[in-house]
Amino acid sequence: MPIAIHWFRRDLRIADNTALNAAANDQVIPVFVLSKWERDHHWCGAVRQEFLCGCLASLAKNLEAKGGRLIFREGPADAALEKLIRETGASEIYFARDPDPHGRAMEARVAAMAEQLGVTVHPHQDHALHERDEVLTGSGTPYRVFTPYARAWLKLNKPAPGRTLSRLSTPQNIASLELPTLAHWGLTSDAKIIEPGEAAARKRFGRFLDGPVFEYGTLRDIPSLEITSRLSQDLRWGLLSIREIHARCAELAVNGTAAQRKSIAIWINELIWREFYFHVLWHTPEVLEHEFQPETRTLKWRDHWRPEERAGGDKFQRWCAGQTGFPIVDAGMRQLAATGFMHNRVRMIVAMFLTKDLHVWWMHGESWFMRRLVDGEIASNNGGWQWSASTGTDAAPYFRIQNPWSQARRFDPDGNYIRRWVPELRDVSGAHLCTPPAPGLPIAKDYPLPMVDHAVERDEALEMFRRK
Ligand SMILES: Cc1cc2nc3c(=O)[nH]c(=O)nc-3n(C[C@H](O)[C@H](O)[C@H](O)COP(=O)(O)OP(=O)(O)OC[C@H]3O[C@@H](n4cnc5c(N)ncnc54)[C@H](O)[C@@H]3O)c2cc1C
Repeated sequence: MPIAIHWFRRDLRIADNTALNAAANDQVIPVFVLSKWERDHHWCGAVRQEFLCGCLASLAKNLEAKGGRLIFREGPADAALEKLIRETGASEIYFARDPDPHGRAMEARVAAMAEQLGVTVHPHQDHALHERDEVLTGSGTPYRVFTPYARAWLKLNKPAPGRTLSRLSTPQNIASLELPTLAHWGLTSDAKIIEPGEAAARKRFGRFLDGPVFEYGTLRDIPSLEITSRLSQDLRWGLLSIREIHARCAELAVNGTAAQRKSIAIWINELIWREFYFHVLWHTPEVLEHEFQPETRTLKWRDHWRPEERAGGDKFQRWCAGQTGFPIVDAGMRQLAATGFMHNRVRMIVAMFLTKDLHVWWMHGESWFMRRLVDGEIASNNGGWQWSASTGTDAAPYFRIQNPWSQARRFDPDGNYIRRWVPELRDVSGAHLCTPPAPGLPIAKDYPLPMVDHAVERDEALEMFRRK
C-alpha cells in the first residue's frame, strides 16, 4: 500500500476534512510541523499557541481512536517533510490550502521540494466555501468592496460536507517529538482561554444553533450578552468544517420562521466577511505592508514607523493596558488581556479610539491584537483594523468617528460589560459609565481620568485626514 503524508496545518479535525479524507485511502502519516518560534511568530502570541496546543492534544486523541498516530516534527515545514519522506518512502503529500501569504509561500516551497523527490502533492480546498478566483466581477477582476462581493458569493452553489474519518492506518516506528506545550516555545500565559479541540468546538456550534443564532440579528452588538457564536478560533484552526456550518444553517433556515431566517442570514453575512477578507488578502497581500487605499498612505500618524514598544509612547501603552479612562475601551482591552477574546463591537470601538482619538498608526494596534487574540486571523484582523482606521476596503468614512461615550450608551447602557472587566468600576452606575466625568473628577477611586478629550481629538483626526 502506498504511504501518504497528511500535513496538518489549520485543519485540525477529523470530520469533513477534505485533504485527510482524500489521503485516507493509503497508509497515512498525519504530521504537524511545529514552527520555530523566534523566526516565524512575530505574527501571533502565547494565547493562540496555547489554544493550538490544546487542539493538537485533542486531534492526537481523535486520530488514535481511528487507529492512527499524530507525528510531530519541527520546521521549517519543507525541510521537516523532506526528512520524513526520506525516512519513510512516502510518495504523496496531502494538505489543505492556506489563505494567508506566509502559508502559501510555504506551500510553494513544499511543492518544489516534492517535485525534486518525485513525490506527488495534493492541495485541497478546505477553509473557505469559495476560494481565490471563484468570486470575481463580471470582468474577471477581484471585488474591492464587500456588498457586491457578498451578492456574488451568495449566488454560487455551496460545496456539500464530506464524511468523518472512520479509520486510519499509520505505519509503525516513526519518530515523533512530544505533544507540544507552551514551554516548547519558551512561552507562558495566564489568560483564561476558551476550551480547545474539535469536540469543544462542536459543542459551541450546537449551543449556538440551539438558540442564540435566532437572536443574533437583534442582539449581536450587545457585548454583555453571550449571543455571538464564539467560533472564531475554531474557524481559525479548522476545528469545524465551513461546509458543515453552512449546510446546518441552510437546513435550519428552511424550517425556521421569517424572523429566524433573517437572523441566520445576518450571521451568514459575517461568514462572508471572513471570506471577503481572505479574498482581499489573496488578491492584495500588500495590505499587510500598507494601507489598502493608496491616498491614505501619506497620513501623518503618531510615531508612524517606530517599533511597537515605543509607538505612540505612553498613550499606546495606556491603551494596551486598559488604562485610558474611557470605561468601554478599558473593558475591551482588559477582556482581551484576560481571555484572548474581545467582542466584535468593542473591537471596533477600541480600534477607532486608538486611531482616531490617539492618532496611533493602525498597524501598531493590528500587531498588538494579533499577539493577544486567541482567534488571531491575519486577514480578518487586517481588514478590521483598516476598516476602523478608514484606510481599507469598505473603510468607515473618515468623518464618521465613533464617540466612545455614546457607543457605551448605545451598546452597554447598564454598564454590565464594563463592570465585568473593570473591577475599579464595580460600584458605578451605568449612566456614569457612559458619560464623560466633570473635569478633574475621576469616575471612581483608582480609575484614571479620561486621557484625552474626545471632541478635541476628533477634530484633530478630521484635520489629519483633510491634510493627507
Ligand atoms: C479591529 C478588529 C480586529 C479583528 N480581528 C479578528 C481576528 O483576528 N480574527 C477573527 O476571526 N476576527 C477578527 N475580527 C472580526 C470579529 O471581531 C470576530 O470574528 C468576532 O468578534 C468573533 O466572535 P464570534 O466568533 O462570536 O463571531 P460571530 O459574530 O458569531 O461571527 C461568526 C464568525 O464570522 C466571522 N466574522 C465575524 N465578524 C467578522 C468580521 N468583521 N470580519 C471577518 N470575519 C468575521 C468569524 O469567523 C466569526 O467567528 C476583528 C474585528 C475588528 C473590528
